[in-house]
Amino acid sequence: MLGFFDNLYNLRQGPDEPKLKLWRYAGLLLTYRCTAACRFCYYRCGPSAGGLMTVQTAIESWQGLERITGNQSRVHLTGGEPFLYFDRLAEICVEARRQGLKGPESVETNAGWAAGESDRSIQDKLRLLNDCSMERLKISWDPFHEEFVDVEQVRRLVEIAGRVLGPQRVLVRWQKYLEHPTGIRNMPEEDRFLVLKDALKADKCRFTGRAAESLAELEEGAAAEAFDGQDCRRTLLDAKGIHVDPEGNVFLGQCSGMMLGNVRQTPVDRLWQSFEPNKMEFWSVLFNCGPVGFLSSAVEQGYHVGRRYASKCHLCTELRGFFFDKKRYSSIIGPNKFYQDGI
Ligand code: SF4
Repeated sequence: MLGFFDNLYNLRQGPDEPKLKLWRYAGLLLTYRCTAACRFCYYRCGPSAGGLMTVQTAIESWQGLERITGNQSRVHLTGGEPFLYFDRLAEICVEARRQGLKGPESVETNAGWAAGESDRSIQDKLRLLNDCSMERLKISWDPFHEEFVDVEQVRRLVEIAGRVLGPQRVLVRWQKYLEHPTGIRNMPEEDRFLVLKDALKADKCRFTGRAAESLAELEEGAAAEAFDGQDCRRTLLDAKGIHVDPEGNVFLGQCSGMMLGNVRQTPVDRLWQSFEPNKMEFWSVLFNCGPVGFLSSAVEQGYHVGRRYASKCHLCTELRGFFFDKKRYSSIIGPNKFYQDGI
């Protein structure tokens, strides 16, 4: 296990300064492929997206996290839709146990895959995950998922999973929408917007990835200058963990589209140890000024500030898209497909 002062940034801070938190969780994105293409997806997953994490990438990420926070570390397996590649999901979970890692805290699903499966097949898959010490099955369910997934499949999976795992180990996020589905799939686009707007009001969303292009317009927003003074210092220091994509790219917390490194080149614990956000190229701008800090150089390079932004993360996403096209910060702004036609 590591301590606070194994990190370079923390070493150079005074006793009362905020420190970089030890990363305790890792979300392993098994694939970007998904049965749905939710408008709020930070990772722009969808049916035509691809990628499949190797067992080695998953296990090395898992082990790297354990070297940071020992048995307090938590891994969840997500996507995309991890059940689309159940054999790989199972291989990873079995190998993790063989290596002495504790089971995944959760596997996240949208339940859409269950439509093509018999009850028996669903039970067998959940039993295998249970045998690998998965703590919980997390089912994502809200109006964004409801646009793509039939509520009856969600109810069916909840019922079968409750029998196999026990109801307390099946989490629906959010139960309120399962009790009262909105019926959004049968609505015209203008009515859907009203439902989604309400959902955004109830549960905040970070406008990055597809959310920036599909949902930002639902917010009143503000001019870019309004985000002056909103730095990302606490977001970078207080992130409780990371996400790792199928290619091994590492993202901090919920900040998609910015790569801290790649686990195939640098183990997760080494990434944590060397992360010095106030000194490193690109990150230091976010740390000290937030995305507004990029604005003047972007404008010099031809960026047009002509619209309102739903949040500083929306501004950040727009500026990263601009820099991506200019091939600036290309070791950080990526992966490439994230900024091209969708992954
Ligand atoms: S502005 Fe960018 S770096 Fe800051 S919290 Fe939002 S997405 Fe993350």
